[in-house]
Amino acid sequence: MNPEFSIIIPIYNEQENIHKLYDRLKSVMNGMNVSHEFVFVNDGSRDRSMILIKELAAKDSSVHYINLSRNFGHQIAVTAGIDHVRGKAIVIIDADLQDPPELIAEMYAKMKEGFEVVYAKRKSRKGESALKKLTAKWFYRILASITSIDIPVDTGDFRLMDRKIVDVLRSMPEQQKFLRGQISWIGFNQTYVEYNRDERHGGETGYTYKKMLRFALDGITSFSNLPLKFATAAGFVVSGITFIVILYALYARFISKDFVPGWTSLILAVLFIGGVQLITIGIIGEYISRLSANVRNRPLYIMGENNIEKS
Ligand code: UDP
Ligand code: MG
Repeated sequence: MNPEFSIIIPIYNEQENIHKLYDRLKSVMNGMNVSHEFVFVNDGSRDRSMILIKELAAKDSSVHYINLSRNFGHQIAVTAGIDHVRGKAIVIIDADLQDPPELIAEMYAKMKEGFEVVYAKRKSRKGESALKKLTAKWFYRILASITSIDIPVDTGDFRLMDRKIVDVLRSMPEQQKFLRGQISWIGFNQTYVEYNRDERHGGETGYTYKKMLRFALDGITSFSNLPLKFATAAGFVVSGITFIVILYALYARFISKDFVPGWTSLILAVLFIGGVQLITIGIIGEYISRLSANVRNRPLYIMGENNIEKS
């Protein structure tokens, strides 16, 4: 029989957190008195995470796991979970206890009021570098201002969703997963609860700046064409200016005959146009690389050992 709740937990080197997380989640689920399954997705951890998960699975039949063949990244790990959950209500939660499991009860109460998505909005975040907080803050605000859909600010993937949402997510084939954007795009009734984000319980963040940058670019290119329009607009503006300069150059050369070998203006123009061209080519490249990834249509992830069937 399908459980009421499915909890998706992406795992990348979380050996210090798995037990504590499991205990807290378990007591929340027991407190709510609902049938449930845990879906641990091991995203190529290099530590003992997988061993610990298997130990849990041996003791508790509600523990399911998927062991990916390598590190595919957080969003893909969650997607693997989404493809395999069976519950009517689905939670996505980080393994490092930055997302307090106890909030799930509050989210569930909201869902009962008739919402399909209840996401957790961070009032504050502890134990993260000032640079991370600042870049995250700006990223969410820039993204919100350039997309036409309503992507909530200061919100991660910690959320509770109805089965309906998961069914739609499964049918969205895009390769660059930006789940929080996709879920906003799906619609239905969405609301939030606020919380203070804790420090990581143990271990280190698996999100390097490189991964964050890629994630940010995925979010922007998946949900906004504004950068492409910016490229076009910049092209027009520069071409307009260039046209005026050409007229002036011709005038100076043939009519006023007041011309000097203009190395400075020449080099400035060349550099300026070169710069704009590089920017615009770069922007186009960002979209094209994503287009080509979608055309290749590779499987998003590869599963190794697991104790779960596709539902
Ligand atoms: N994670 C993952 N794959 C990765 C990086 C992270 O599955 O390549 C998991 C990680 O184990 C955690 C969640 O994604 O459960 C959030 O990662 P993390 O806490 O490192 O990110 P941060 O909170 O620092 O943004
Ligand atoms: Mg974290």
